Amino acid sequence: MKALIIGAGIGGMSAAAALKQQGIECDIFEAVKEIKPVGAALSIWSNGVKCMNHLGMGHIMDQLGGPMHYLAYQDGLTGTVMTQFSLTPLVEAVGERPCPVSRADLQSQMIDWWGKEKIQFGKRIESVEQSVDGVTAYFTDGTQASGDFIIAADGTHSKVRAHVLGYETERRYAGYVNWNGLVDIDEDIAPANQWTTFVGEGKRVSIMPIADGRFYFFFDVPLPKGLDEDRNTVKQDLTRYFAGWAEPVQKLISAINPETTNRIEIHDIEPFDTLVKGKIALLGDSAHSTTPDIGQGGCSALEDAVVLGQCFAKTPDIEAALLDYQSERRFRVKDLVLKARKRCDVTHGKNMQETQAWYDELRQEKGDNIIEGLRNTIVGGPLA
Ligand code: FAD
Repeated sequence: MKALIIGAGIGGMSAAAALKQQGIECDIFEAVKEIKPVGAALSIWSNGVKCMNHLGMGHIMDQLGGPMHYLAYQDGLTGTVMTQFSLTPLVEAVGERPCPVSRADLQSQMIDWWGKEKIQFGKRIESVEQSVDGVTAYFTDGTQASGDFIIAADGTHSKVRAHVLGYETERRYAGYVNWNGLVDIDEDIAPANQWTTFVGEGKRVSIMPIADGRFYFFFDVPLPKGLDEDRNTVKQDLTRYFAGWAEPVQKLISAINPETTNRIEIHDIEPFDTLVKGKIALLGDSAHSTTPDIGQGGCSALEDAVVLGQCFAKTPDIEAALLDYQSERRFRVKDLVLKARKRCDVTHGKNMQETQAWYDELRQEKGDNIIEGLRNTIVGGPLA
């Protein structure tokens, strides 16, 4: 049995790993010649780390995961600590730690683990066809490939999604811009073993330790779409948006390298129920495109892959296995997208009264409520 995997991102690589565990041959096709991730880093929460372990790639997490042992919120303007607590109770409750990792390192290690030479780069899918005999993928360079089924892990702008759904989807602007990048660890900005977030005015500045003495940082500002801002203006833009904010935030702005700082207008897609049509399945962002507000987009791609493998372990019947995958995943991924959207609105001041109430809650928080929220999200995964 042969699967055609479209996309060599987290979703495609983990799907290939899961299918390989079931003895299924996979041909992987990636549009770009060289992968350039859109973000600097990402937090793989415990549910995602469990999936990486299950797929045989746990060593990558051990190597790349930063020492994130504490969590704190600070008032963005004064720098006062609103809440600070250990993440150990979370790790004990769910049986695995979270791993903030460099995105480029994660993707390249997943690709190396599979074997870079076995992936076909520069193959951009244009359309797909399926019949009783199997599937065919057509690429923009005029070539085609045939197999028994397709896993379309071609991201949020998926070319295959419309074939599966029967209609085009629209991406929804979430109302804020995210700048992200990496800087060397500097304890004048934040403790080296803590996820620190400064909040105020519906904005946030977040800092997480990743491996090799680096901080992953991001700045969020609610803004209209399509502003004339880019890497050339990043320092002056952040200095203006965060004028009057606490000293560590100013230090971070001074430390960033504009050349490697990404500016992203954050979007999601209204969740849908159909993930599969016949012998073609969507996986990862093509199936569920979320705002990054609960850090679960990549984790849920990993979960999709684990479940896909579990479904093929139950039956070799392709269409039955893919339908099983759809029914196992659709409620979970819809829940995560909607949870992230809700968190996004509160964090980014969609209704400033609600955001202020959240800031007030943070000042009373001892850690239990936040840990319970994180735990709930994590244990909803397939390896809970
Ligand atoms: P992608 O990573 O987009 O990969 C898709 C691949 O398909 C790409 O390599 C692309 O080149 C290829 N492709 C595209 N079109 C075609 C085509 N036509 N033919 C062939 N190949 C194609 N998630 C977390 O779990 N934790 C986080 O902390 C987190 N933070 C985030 C922060 C930001 C700012 C953003 C934007 C996202 C964040 N995410 C996070 C979400 C996470 O990045 C995505 O959910 C994850 O990358 C999805 O993986 P994927 O493989 O489905 O898609």
